[in-house]
Amino acid sequence: MTNRVVLIGHPIAHSFSGAMQQAALDALGIDARYELWDRRQIDLADAIAELRGEEFLGANVTIPHKEHVVPLVDRLTEDAQATGAVNVISREGKKLIGHNTDVPGFKVALDKLVGRQKMPRHAVVLGAGGAARAVVYALITDGFQHITVFNRHLHRGEGLVRHFGRSAAHMDLRAMPWHESVLEAELSKTKVLVNATSIGMTVGETPIPAELLPPDLLVMDLVYNPPQSQLLKDAAAAHCATMNGELMLLQQGARSFELWTGQHAPLDVMQAELERAREQGLRQLPIDMGPHGGENAQGGAAGGAAGGVAGASGQAARPSA
Ligand code: NAP
Repeated sequence: MTNRVVLIGHPIAHSFSGAMQQAALDALGIDARYELWDRRQIDLADAIAELRGEEFLGANVTIPHKEHVVPLVDRLTEDAQATGAVNVISREGKKLIGHNTDVPGFKVALDKLVGRQKMPRHAVVLGAGGAARAVVYALITDGFQHITVFNRHLHRGEGLVRHFGRSAAHMDLRAMPWHESVLEAELSKTKVLVNATSIGMTVGETPIPAELLPPDLLVMDLVYNPPQSQLLKDAAAAHCATMNGELMLLQQGARSFELWTGQHAPLDVMQAELERAREQGLRQLPIDMGPHGGENAQGGAAGGAAGGVAGASGQAARPSA
């Protein structure tokens, strides 16, 4: 029986996970197929229920479903519980276990970005979705003392802060309204800026006007496709150190692979496949659009209706579809 692993999200065409994971499965001679399931929120519960079938090793979960999946699994590991977000599902018999490998994946990437400097204590995080939760939790557990979260919908940022009430009791975690003057003031005090929104997946869009970026910031954009987002281009021009989301993708993916297969992930194979995809373009796997794929249904959290955040071009940034 050929086993199956799936990526569940909406949209998913941008994702390098399929190519990377299939290369790893093939390299170790594991008889399994990595499938791309584009599922709207309305179809999420059915998709998760299907994973209980014997042929499934597990799944990755991506935008915009990482938080919605939490009540649909049987057990959460510590990082998934702490973040309230799941990016990996594994199967134990008929039971589904929710994990969060974005947390250790982000930590490896942050360590590399910080390099030999002392780990800073002050960060600004853009976004309040599933990825932002992993980032904030990683920063809290790495000893950051001040974290300011900006999100298009302020109430979601405030919900994130409430969620971390206990783990952040010893430090200053706050959500602030996304106004340029407030952002500028916070950026002038911070050392680390992380973009955990999906703005930047469309070429030219950026969450922050270039002129707000002070020099010498450490800037990480979780977006990895395109490899150099507008934010990273602007940050490099402002003499900031920059990193895209590729290392985090590799590291969270390696841990996902190990949870599904019980084998060491072939990091060199996965890295080579990411490099190939970046340089030659994605060898796209077929996308299963699901029962409501063709309909114009509401896409979930990222599909909200409030006014968008103005990009550097002055145009509201939108996630790619
Ligand atoms: P999510 O739960 O859907 O959250 C999306 C976030 O982006 C929310 O904060 C949302 O704000 C914001 N956003 C979306 N469109 C926006 C717009 N037009 N204007 C302003 N804000 C907008 O998604 P996620 O899972 O957190 O993922 C976020 C990003 O991180 C994606 O690009 C994903 O690919 C990337 N990511 C990368 C890695 C990696 O390994 N490199 C891992 C995880 C995630 P609202 O709440 O106001 O809608």
